[in-house]
Amino acid sequence: MDENCIFCKIINNEIPSTTIYEDDDIKAFFDISQVTPGHTLVVPKKHVQDIFAYDEDLAERVFKKVPMIARAIKASNPKIIGMNICQNNGKIAYQSVMHSHIHLVPRYSNDDDFSMHWGDNTDLASNDELQARADKIKQNLEG
Ligand code: AMP
Ligand code: ZN
Repeated sequence: MDENCIFCKIINNEIPSTTIYEDDDIKAFFDISQVTPGHTLVVPKKHVQDIFAYDEDLAERVFKKVPMIARAIKASNPKIIGMNICQNNGKIAYQSVMHSHIHLVPRYSNDDDFSMHWGDNTDLASNDELQARADKIKQNLEG
């Protein structure tokens, strides 16, 4: 528990939330912004800042619940035809609350209120550059 953390306060019921699921490890509640109807946050009860702070055990306990919650959201409304699942890490990646969380954003149409931009940089790196980039990552894998 971080006493200055808004999500820790929600987990402790010091701040109200619209909660759809809770167990020993996670709380799932509506994002106040409701980017699209049903927009939900899955939040570990343990205060961890971002994806880089998870160990395998915590990751298993948190991420394994996401499909079950996603299915329940989808089943709640026949107008939901897809879902974006986003997890922002660091201010540069649009993280504004520094208690890790997973966004589940139900999708309804091309002009609902969610969008993403995916650049295409296919031709920017040579095969050798790609291999060198991959090798550096491989050298840093744990376990
Ligand atoms: P992110 O920008 O990925 O860090 O997402 C943080 C999210 O927390 C934003 O989408 C906010 O709308 C949401 N949020 C902030 N305060 C609350 C709150 N009191 N209850 C529910 N969601 C909140
Ligand atoms: Zn917290």
